[in-house]
Amino acid sequence: MDVVTKRVIASCEIIEQTQVAPHVFRSVLVEPTVAREARPGQFVNVRVCDCYDPLLRRPFSVHAVNPERGTFSLLYDVVGRGTTLLMAMHQGDRVSIVGPLGRPFDAGNDPEARHILVAGGCGAAPIHFLSDWICRQHGCEKVTVLVGAKTGEGILCEREFVAHGVSVEVATEDGSFGFRGLVTDLLEARLSEVGPEARGGQSSGGRRPPDIMQGSPSPPAPNTQHPTPACTPAAPCR
Ligand SMILES: Cc1cc2nc3c(=O)[nH]c(=O)nc-3n(C[C@H](O)[C@H](O)[C@H](O)COP(=O)(O)OP(=O)(O)OC[C@H]3O[C@@H](n4cnc5c(N)ncnc54)[C@H](O)[C@@H]3O)c2cc1C
Repeated sequence: MDVVTKRVIASCEIIEQTQVAPHVFRSVLVEPTVAREARPGQFVNVRVCDCYDPLLRRPFSVHAVNPERGTFSLLYDVVGRGTTLLMAMHQGDRVSIVGPLGRPFDAGNDPEARHILVAGGCGAAPIHFLSDWICRQHGCEKVTVLVGAKTGEGILCEREFVAHGVSVEVATEDGSFGFRGLVTDLLEARLSEVGPEARGGQSSGGRRPPDIMQGSPSPPAPNTQHPTPACTPAAPCR
C-alpha cells in the first residue's frame, strides 16, 4: 500500500453521531482530504474540546471513508474524559483533527493472497476500513474476518463485514455468541485447520500462507495456555 504523506490540520463538522453498542459510538466527520488520502491502519489525532482538559489530542483509527461525500468515520469505546466529551457532541459541532497519520497496513498487491483480519473490540475500527479496501482492490472471496468481544452485545461491525461480502466468524469470551474464547484462540483454531504452511512450515502444493492483520486498540489479555498465535516470517501478524 502506498505510504501517504499528505495530511491536514482541520476543523471538521460532525454530521452523524450513533451509538452502536454499549459504550461504543460512531462519529461521521466532514474532511475531504482525510476521506481521499487515508489508508487502512492510519489514524487521526482529535482535539475533543476547546479546553485544557484533556490537553492532548486523542488518537482514533480511520474506520471508514467516503471520498465522494468527503467524509470519514471513527468508531470508539468511551473509556475516559476525552471519549466522553466526543460522545456527547452533537450534529453540527466541530472538532479539530490532524491526519491521516501513521503507517498503513500492508495488504500487498497480490490478488491471489488470502487475508485473515482479526478484530478485537474497537480493533474493528481499522479492520472495517481494511476489509472494505481489500474487497475493492481484489474482491472479497479470499478475506476472512474474525471478530471478537467479551460478550455478544460488544461484537462490532459484524453486519458491515457481512455487507462487504467477506466471510465472518465471531468469538465471545463468555460464549454467548459464536466461538467461546478470545478471538486469538479462534485464529489459532482456524490456522491449525489451514495446515502447517499457515504457521510458516513447509508449504504444501505451493500454497501461500494467509496474511494475518490484527486491529486492537489495547492488546488482548495474555493467554498463557495458548500464547500468541502463529506470527511467523511466513505468516506475520501486522
Ligand atoms: C494509533 C491509535 C489508534 C486508536 N484507535 C482507536 C479507535 O479506533 N477506537 C478506540 O476506541 N480507541 C482507539 N485508540 C485508543 C484511544 O486513543 C483511547 O481509548 C483514548 O485516547 C482514550 O481517551 P480518553 O480521554 O477517553 O481516556 P483517558 O482519560 O485517556 O483514560 C481514562 C482511563 O481509561 C483507561 N483507558 C484509556 N484507554 C483505554 C482503552 N483503550 N481500553 C481500556 N482502558 C483505557 C486509562 O488507563 C485511564 O485509566 C487508539 C489509540 C491509538 C494509539
